[in-house]
Amino acid sequence: MPLQKVEKIWMDGKLVNWDDANVHILTHTLHYGSGVFEGIRAYATSQGPAIFRLADHIHRLFNSAKVYLIDIPYTEDELVEAVKETVRVNGVESCYIRPLVYLGYGEMGLNPLPCPVNVSIAVWPWGTYLGDEGLRHGVRCKISSWTRHDPNAMPVAAKGTGMYANSSMAKVEALKSGYDEAILLSPQGYISECTGENLLIVKNGRIIKIPNAAGALEGLTQNSVITIARDLGYEVVEENLLRTDLYLADEAFLTGTAAEVVPIRSVDDREIGEPGPITKAIQETYFATVRGEVDQYKDWLDIV
Ligand code: PMP
Repeated sequence: MPLQKVEKIWMDGKLVNWDDANVHILTHTLHYGSGVFEGIRAYATSQGPAIFRLADHIHRLFNSAKVYLIDIPYTEDELVEAVKETVRVNGVESCYIRPLVYLGYGEMGLNPLPCPVNVSIAVWPWGTYLGDEGLRHGVRCKISSWTRHDPNAMPVAAKGTGMYANSSMAKVEALKSGYDEAILLSPQGYISECTGENLLIVKNGRIIKIPNAAGALEGLTQNSVITIARDLGYEVVEENLLRTDLYLADEAFLTGTAAEVVPIRSVDDREIGEPGPITKAIQETYFATVRGEVDQYKDWLDIV
């Protein structure tokens, strides 16, 4: 599906027309994957569009930049406001939001330090990332032949643009093999995460979260879902998982801003089945939460 255009994109403090939001071909990040970014969603609520966990996403953006030794020339508050402004001027009810910090035009070569630091914020309406069918009945996953980054090869706690070549390779392999999504193992052979989502399983009534040390990003959707799960009375523990733990899970689901909360129906053709009761309860509460229907979690929403 081609991108659905809106009117304006925020670039270094200015709102420019969508079609004019271009960069020079010698933009550093285009060559070396030296940028950091975020993915955020705004949802339609009874009070208008509201952005889910905006400040937390912007904070993670600054943490990613810190890891990459990039000095963002704005404060976190300024970018929070810039995101809101971009959503507002485009008049969208709900959208995906992509803040990008990139090293621009001016220097080439592998030393990024002399490069200018540029910031852009684009928004666009984006439906269900893994499809409506997947959201309802679950997606089919494949353990990738690509390994998730070794934490000493790439900083897995950061959302660095270049790191996503690994995710894209795994995604293409899964799609070409007839699956919906890939699951990557850590270099140590434990389950890490999907290409752009965290993964949780349910076994004997307990929800199991994967440790970040297995190479997973600290997902904000996962973090929200764990809070929701505990408030619903479920036990959540953190454990390393082997691929057979997925094959033999009672339930499994993935979480991410783009994907939201999506059940996993099979892994490597081992059936887990239709979404189970815990997955469904969490999914239902999550969607009610982002629409501003759950008072308990209203603080997670920033009204535009
Ligand atoms: N893992 C990776 C590799 C991701 O890119 C994402 C998406 N940001 C996630 C997990 C999920 O994170 P979040 O729930 O904060 O979107």
